[in-house]
Amino acid sequence: MTDIRIRTTGTTGRITLARPKALNAMTYQMCLAIEEALDSWRDKAEVTQVVIDAEGDRAFCAGGDIAELYDTGTRGDFAYGQTFWADEYRLNAKIFEYPKPVISFLQGFTMGGGVGIGCHGSHRIVGQSSQIAMPECGIGLVPDVGGTLMLALAPGRLGEYLGTTATRMSAADAILAGFADLYVPEERWPDLIDRLEQGAGPDILANAAQEAPAGTLADLQEEIDRHFGGETLADILANLRHDDSDFTRDTLKKMQRNSPLSMASTVEILHRLRGPSITIAKALELEYRFTFRAMEHGDFLEGIRAAIIDKDRTPKWQFADQKVPAAAVSKMLMPLGKNTLKLEGKQMDALKIGFIGLGNMGAPMAANLARAGCTVTGFDTAVSAAEGVTMAASAAEAVRDADVVITMLPNGDILRRVAADVLPAMQQGALLLDCSTVDVESARAVAEQAGGSGQLFVDAPVSGGIGGAAGGTLTFMAGGTEQAFAKAQPLFDIMGQKAVHCGDAGAGQAAKICNNMILGATMIATCEAFALADKLGLDRQKMFDVVSTSSGYSWSMNAYCPAPGVGPASPADNDYTPGFAAELMVKDLGLSQQAAEAVDADTPMGALAHRLYRQFVQDEDGLGKDFSAMLPRFSERGRSG
Ligand code: NAD
Repeated sequence: MTDIRIRTTGTTGRITLARPKALNAMTYQMCLAIEEALDSWRDKAEVTQVVIDAEGDRAFCAGGDIAELYDTGTRGDFAYGQTFWADEYRLNAKIFEYPKPVISFLQGFTMGGGVGIGCHGSHRIVGQSSQIAMPECGIGLVPDVGGTLMLALAPGRLGEYLGTTATRMSAADAILAGFADLYVPEERWPDLIDRLEQGAGPDILANAAQEAPAGTLADLQEEIDRHFGGETLADILANLRHDDSDFTRDTLKKMQRNSPLSMASTVEILHRLRGPSITIAKALELEYRFTFRAMEHGDFLEGIRAAIIDKDRTPKWQFADQKVPAAAVSKMLMPLGKNTLKLEGKQMDALKIGFIGLGNMGAPMAANLARAGCTVTGFDTAVSAAEGVTMAASAAEAVRDADVVITMLPNGDILRRVAADVLPAMQQGALLLDCSTVDVESARAVAEQAGGSGQLFVDAPVSGGIGGAAGGTLTFMAGGTEQAFAKAQPLFDIMGQKAVHCGDAGAGQAAKICNNMILGATMIATCEAFALADKLGLDRQKMFDVVSTSSGYSWSMNAYCPAPGVGPASPADNDYTPGFAAELMVKDLGLSQQAAEAVDADTPMGALAHRLYRQFVQDEDGLGKDFSAMLPRFSERGRSG
């Protein structure tokens, strides 16, 4: 192929991008050729390292060749793009995980698809002409090719800034943001490549490296962190608009050019990725959810039209007023079911799941697993059918061949009974993954029982409610051994957006009840503050505008506002239909008090929240209402009750 030169020189596998007139833009054929070369060198003892460089001095690789994607997409053929991206992302993961050193020399532009080839290796060399960027929001995509991994790991909020503004990074900036490793003046590159080809190892690179000329990002870090800390694009824009400075003006101007839907989705992807469970596979899988839908539902075709077809540079974006509803972002990032990105080594098809407890939460979680290719066999004492699930006649029958058994049950007593029933029927080495919210003691007792019979156990209660279960965006708080957690991880990736390994068995439940104790108390505080504000004659919207951006802010106020018509959509706007029922809050607060008593912890706020919610459910018409319905309760009362 003329666009790329692949050969071995000595013990070095050599890849040279050779389309300098097209700024070495990556075609589908080039992707496949690189993958084939890497596969063939992986186990070959004669190849000890790989060097990737590019012809011409203007660019290492300015991106993917998007003209072809446009042609097929405008004809209504979305499959070509989807296959292109899936194959490209598989290659990106291979470079990231390659077992031998991969050394790349990144002169000029390295953007988008170029980052996927040049910035995932072990030694990424930049020079004086290097300019690295993730400009995808400008064409209606999100940063992809695994770029969100680096963005999520970049210091502070650099990732949100770089992803939504498409700012170009100099060598020093790229090193700061984690897209490059070493600065070596470009005149020295030919000699270094010669020596690598003659058998020198990558150590010579560090010896040749110098300090890069100063970039701009380090000086902007404090301002970036201050303005890009919000939960959503709307928070970030509000923050930037609030403050008139050279930085905010320049930043808003850059963001004005980009697709609002893409920017909002970028912020959401980075927030979902950030945390200890981040992996390249997870980054690519989330990116693919967006790119898979980008032609049909996103701004991608319009973005390319304006940028490279008509070149009018005036794209007509959806949500041009930059007000992107949360639902639009969720829709772009919903799990893809059977179309989920599959990277090599992910054998989801082979995984057999037994699922016990197919109620409000369990049924949609099981459906997501089935859509991702798992074989799911289920059992529930009251539910007789669930989407994607083959029902069994008993719990023991449902778990017999399973690699992983998931339980989603009402409480600890039921969990103990079900565990006693299923553990003897489970295979040796299989994993029991309990996602119910139960007391710490029950979780630990079942873990001990599982360990005694040669099985693994993880307690992984969830946050995110029924919407999160259906959308595959739950957060899991997990307790168990490293081995057990690792076995559960691919399932967390399907059912949720984030999994935090909190410690040994029981630690997940401990985290959950602490979280919900805070939630119960802050919701009550938020509701009573609204009731006070009403009586002081303060407008509820003004109250929200102040508190949601002041020190009284919390999830209860900002994301789940208990006042109807104020803040984002919440159960308050639906007559307090749960959502998260008040009686479930009573249960969780009861669990935290039970745990506090067991370890002699002083939790007066938690105890009071428990008492108030119990009273609400038992005596005050709270049963069956959302837990935010505390607001009308407070509104109707005076100080004497
Ligand atoms: P649910 O009552 O809708 O579902 C529980 C299911 O378990 C029911 O279908 C029930 O028939 C089944 N079941 C009970 N005993 C059984 C047994 N012995 N064998 C098999 N099946 C049995 O409850 P849910 O809302 O799905 O909640 C499940 C768990 O998730 C609870 O622990 C809850 O605290 C927790 N949780 C719920 C939410 C939420 O918003 N609903 C949010 C976070 C966590």
